[in-house]
Amino acid sequence: MIIQLKKDITEQERENILEQLQLLDITPQPVKTNFKEYIVGIVKKEFDIRQIGNMKGIADIHRVSDSYKMVSKKWKLHNTIIDLGDGIKIGNDELAIMSGPCSIESEKQIESVVDHLLKNNVKIMRGGVFKPRSSPYSFRGMGIDGLKMFYKHCSENGIKVISEVMQVSQVEEMLDYVDIFQVGARNSQNFNLLDVLGQVDKPVMIKRGISGTIDELLYSAEYVFSNGNEKILLCERGIRTFERAARNTLDLSAVPILKDKTHLPVIVDPSHGVGIRKFVPTMALAGVMSGADGVIMEIHETPEKAFSDGQQSLYYQQAEKLYKELRQTKELVNSF
Ligand code: PEP
Ligand code: MN
Repeated sequence: MIIQLKKDITEQERENILEQLQLLDITPQPVKTNFKEYIVGIVKKEFDIRQIGNMKGIADIHRVSDSYKMVSKKWKLHNTIIDLGDGIKIGNDELAIMSGPCSIESEKQIESVVDHLLKNNVKIMRGGVFKPRSSPYSFRGMGIDGLKMFYKHCSENGIKVISEVMQVSQVEEMLDYVDIFQVGARNSQNFNLLDVLGQVDKPVMIKRGISGTIDELLYSAEYVFSNGNEKILLCERGIRTFERAARNTLDLSAVPILKDKTHLPVIVDPSHGVGIRKFVPTMALAGVMSGADGVIMEIHETPEKAFSDGQQSLYYQQAEKLYKELRQTKELVNSF
């Protein structure tokens, strides 16, 4: 159960509600977010909702039978729209396109990608500066100085930045230089990191774990929300299965299932999802057809020279064609 409290609730009213919950054997979990104040009630036995619903200080009350509560669709009339400022939103009728290299490599590269994005009216640039690599000998990213340079070029050109945060200690240093924190597949269940990201006022995109279930992804989002941050995006990026023909198995059935279970926007990552350049456009388009609110993709001016994930990075020309097709596809989906 979710109890939404009134903005002007008095201390006495709050106490009365908590007392009543105790009488009904409901465990209260206060949740104060960047928008509102709630009490999540863990219900142990049947009760009459009117015993609470009529109390002073309550704006609304909802029964939510799912074990994740705040991210469930069952209590919210409208889907969440993430507002990045400057008219850039995710979760509305427009497809969100996040495009950029796997890793930020140099200032020259940032300038070249920014140019490409501006030409194609793409408003969000991706790029990792802290890279989770399977081998410790691979390129591990340019770090915070790379991020500062990345953010400077983007903000000067009205482009928003999404970049991966790998550990708690990076959250604060990155805070002023990202518009969206990305939680990578390997950190999808790093609960300490999710707790801290719940306490900042910046959107967080959580990728599905390499072997993570849909419910586990929703629980990860619940960590962020219950710590106070409602600005969450979910990302399907492929899971590990027995199939070795592709890098991962992009589970597109997760998209409609997530859209059914949660009010949060869903993003598809076809680059890591299939991991093979020539199949990325098809899977990106399929992602939009499956109902995704956005696509995150890797591009590179010279993919064969990329420091990471070149094999799945699109050439600019391929990306240009894809942006158009993606937008057309989203319009088609909207018209259904
Ligand atoms: C990335 O976005 O470059 C990345 C490392 O993604 P994932 O966490 O999905 O592997
Ligand atoms: Mn990558």
